[in-house]
Amino acid sequence: MTDGAAIDLKDVHLSLGEGAGRVHILKGINLQIEAGKAVGLVGPSGSGKSTLLMVMAGLERSDQGTVVVAGADLSPLSEDELAQFRGANVGIIFQSFHLIPNMTALENVAVPLELAGDRQAFAKAERELTAVGLAHRLHHYPSQMSGGEQQRVAVARALVVQPKILIADEPTGNLDDTTGTQIVDLMFKAQRARGMTLVLVTHDPSLAEQCDRMIRLRSGEIEEDRLRSTTPGTSATLGVDA
Ligand code: ADP
Ligand code: MG
Repeated sequence: MTDGAAIDLKDVHLSLGEGAGRVHILKGINLQIEAGKAVGLVGPSGSGKSTLLMVMAGLERSDQGTVVVAGADLSPLSEDELAQFRGANVGIIFQSFHLIPNMTALENVAVPLELAGDRQAFAKAERELTAVGLAHRLHHYPSQMSGGEQQRVAVARALVVQPKILIADEPTGNLDDTTGTQIVDLMFKAQRARGMTLVLVTHDPSLAEQCDRMIRLRSGEIEEDRLRSTTPGTSATLGVDA
């Protein structure tokens, strides 16, 4: 209902799998996320967090309900239109980096811009890699970089299209604590500097606490929806207390 919500989901249902393996994953999700906010998405393994991110990113279609992201109703879009929508609006960061192994850091980051026909692709990719502290790794391949460096490349690749919405699925899951903290700081800094909307799936409660709002899923439903007060040490509660 919220006007100008970056993400507006109404009664979203989704089942995946075939035959007896079919699973009803999302069971009537209603969720509006204000533009420019950081939302932490938590919940037990298998509760539907990744699937919900895929719906928000236009990588999975809902079976029922409406999905409006960055002002676009995704349901009527063709696959090509969805791909175009994602390229222009959504940056995604995965736990396992998902870099292309036979491309250098620079080439990996340039890919989304090249797909969009941007002739400045490599110059912009270099700028973005420099911003994440990898000016000295432009021509390295993923196998020649540490996990933290690979995730920085993935962050640069997500940011290079100047997305309105940044989606991250357990981005620190494959990193040690120190490296994970650096990656998260990088993401939050970029989010604030560019006024992006951030949806971050995490197992780490302290990470979720850094977000403006925390949403907890259980068995494909929203179990808790809590706002963080801007005053440290207090919190406003929308749903059930943790
Ligand atoms: P989370 O990210 O919270 O761990 P997921 O969204 O990955 O949860 O998965 C939610 C549930 O849906 C799990 O039970 C998972 O096994 C199931 N699931 C995910 N993808 C598929 C699929 N393509 N086909 C069938 N079941 C799936
Ligand atoms: Mg998951």
